[in-house]
Amino acid sequence: MTHTSMKILVLNAGSSSLKYQLFEFPEKKVLVSGLIEKIGEPIGRVKHMLHESGGAIIQEMAVSDHQVALENIALLLLEGEKAVVKNPEEIQAVGHRVVHGGEKFSAPTLIDSEEMLNDLRKLSYLAPLHNPANITGIEVAKKVFPNARQVAIFDTAFHQTLPDYVYRYAVPNELYTEHGFRAYGFHGTSHQYVTREGARFLGVDPTQFNAISIHLGNGCSMTAIQNGKSIDTSMGLTPLGGLIMGSRPGDFDPSLILFLGKTLKMDFDQIDDLLNKKSGLKGLTGENDLREILNRYHNNEAQAQLAIQMYIYRIRKYIGAYAVVLGRVDAVIFTAGVGENSAFIREGVCTDLEILGIKLDTKLNSADSKETREIQQADSLIKLLVVPTNEELEIANETERLLTSIR
Ligand code: ADP
Repeated sequence: MTHTSMKILVLNAGSSSLKYQLFEFPEKKVLVSGLIEKIGEPIGRVKHMLHESGGAIIQEMAVSDHQVALENIALLLLEGEKAVVKNPEEIQAVGHRVVHGGEKFSAPTLIDSEEMLNDLRKLSYLAPLHNPANITGIEVAKKVFPNARQVAIFDTAFHQTLPDYVYRYAVPNELYTEHGFRAYGFHGTSHQYVTREGARFLGVDPTQFNAISIHLGNGCSMTAIQNGKSIDTSMGLTPLGGLIMGSRPGDFDPSLILFLGKTLKMDFDQIDDLLNKKSGLKGLTGENDLREILNRYHNNEAQAQLAIQMYIYRIRKYIGAYAVVLGRVDAVIFTAGVGENSAFIREGVCTDLEILGIKLDTKLNSADSKETREIQQADSLIKLLVVPTNEELEIANETERLLTSIR
């Protein structure tokens, strides 16, 4: 496969924010990254970081909607002395992060028709907090960069290899056949990236690689990977289930929802808010930043200690489950804010797992590094890896792969 030179803009559109990175291929060099926040509010904030020359442009200005935000990004990229793009046509593609692809989208997809956009719009009911903003990102990118190919990369796509006996829920069939009620899984771009990077680092064939990947950020999820493919994952229909997260509970008895509604008389919006924003570490300790909670843990604060114990216990439980699901595990991979940076959490997760062939090297574990690295003892049967995730790069990689394949 020949790799031609191209610039790819990666966009991650949230309801009031727009994150972006401009990559140059085939070098995979980041030229610019940035973030526009508070879109639609009286004063928005723009942070545009230049990677080649260093430095940043910070602006405070009203950004009325996503189109104005993207027009501003285009101006910063194309005009003025800090411009990194001479001609808008140099940007051959825009790779969009789209949270939910349902069952229809199991691979990177060229969004080149209104019909395709409509298919995407129909999925918004599955991710009402995320997909509408992602779609707006595609709509405005078509207007601002009309000559660029628009490519959607889905958080759910990597998990479309889950077998039916894993993704189905034991509820009446019609909920699946008529409403798509099943597990989809999320953080797929990250799980895919760290799996490929882990296999590359270990020098093993990615299509023969079995791993358990543990993404611990504000959202947390785990994936069982067999021969490079996702065969089980901890999040389900939405990113609410599985591990304990910053502000989401992970697994709990669903009858809690009946109790909240029937007994505590909460309405659906209140329940939604409670489960998505007020639970998890935040519900247990009052805050969701794990660094703060760890400080309180080390000051012997009981609430923080219980929360950390629960957080680690849940991860260990999934490791046990996925070890059985996989039969053979080549590596356990830690990634994202907590997974990459907290030696304490990694040690808590890996302690006393000799029964599975896991032996952590505490010295390697506590070494300071931002690189992919191994942290197991020499005689550990399972490799333990820390792999910094890079979802933007993976979106750019997938966009480039798709464009090269259809050329
Ligand atoms: P997001 O899911 O928003 O992308 P990140 O992957 O950046 O989030 O992860 C954010 C989490 O990582 C926060 O809970 C933060 O406290 C935690 N974190 C970052 N650095 C450290 C660290 N050195 N030790 C412990 N936790 C950390």
